[in-house]
Amino acid sequence: MTIEQTKTTDEATLYSPLADFESETREIEIREDPLTGRPTRIVEAIFPAPEEPPTVEDYVGDTEDCFFCPGMVTEATPEYPDFVGEDRIERGDSISFPNLFPYGKHSNVVVLTDEHFQPIDAFETSTFEDGFGCALEFLGAVADHDAPEFASINMNFLPSAGSSVVHPHVQTLADDHGTTAQRRRVQAERAHYEEHGTTYWEDVRGIEVPGPRHVGSTGTVDWLAPFAPIHHWHVRGVTDTVGLPAPDDDIVGELADGITNVLGYYASLDLNAYNFAISFPTAEPQSPAVVDIVARSPFEDNYITDVSFLGMIHGESVIDVAPEVYADEVADYF
Ligand SMILES: [Zn+2]
Repeated sequence: MTIEQTKTTDEATLYSPLADFESETREIEIREDPLTGRPTRIVEAIFPAPEEPPTVEDYVGDTEDCFFCPGMVTEATPEYPDFVGEDRIERGDSISFPNLFPYGKHSNVVVLTDEHFQPIDAFETSTFEDGFGCALEFLGAVADHDAPEFASINMNFLPSAGSSVVHPHVQTLADDHGTTAQRRRVQAERAHYEEHGTTYWEDVRGIEVPGPRHVGSTGTVDWLAPFAPIHHWHVRGVTDTVGLPAPDDDIVGELADGITNVLGYYASLDLNAYNFAISFPTAEPQSPAVVDIVARSPFEDNYITDVSFLGMIHGESVIDVAPEVYADEVADYF
């Protein structure tokens, strides 16, 4: 079956000071996410790229008062409620505990490393494997206790990506509400399944793999630069996994591997900040786990956020490099 990929191009004209005030025409491409309809504008040179590779040593070198550093973490972080069965969960160097300021009914933090800071290209697959294992062990206990309809494992890295703590950590969130994006996606996935008898994601794979937006695969996970990226250098991992995987399932390493590869690509562009979310609708047979990873404004002194009025108020995604352009470059890291 085909999936409708809608894009239109508008033109803006101006007398440009960059060309002796001659008339110039600029193109703005507007795409729609084929599943949800969410619009993305591709606008030339919109990303607040730094002139030089950012230096962050002063900011990230200060470990004083870090609650997540070894020695402090067991003193300063909360312990799980009784149904989890352990005070904190540990795997390798990763350790997890409840979020002291929960976003929802079930909300935890997984500190990934003993190291207070590591640059974006120093993350190893095994680090994410341990961290996701901790998160899934917690989510498994939550599922036995409460069976929430939605779960996710999420990460902010560095302040320009929304993190107030340098020390690398992921956060889980599980409840029956889901987030706006999770609910919107599940509704559209249900509608697609009811209309076509196939899952949206198997159809996406059918048209995108192989193709100019296919970045690569890690085991059963296909990684794509989506047709309508939600943010700069967005890469999406599509899995076959329905419901919550067990902490030691192969999919955990496959997700960790792909994320590590994407971070390697971001580092090659001198990017240092990112977000990702692995979404698990837990009771939706047509909704496998999907991971979305995006680059954020490079963190440095006086960094400029990459979320403007368009994203903040209008709910509009804006990127400056089309997915067909960067997909090829990310593929070198797979
Ligand atoms: Zn620390």
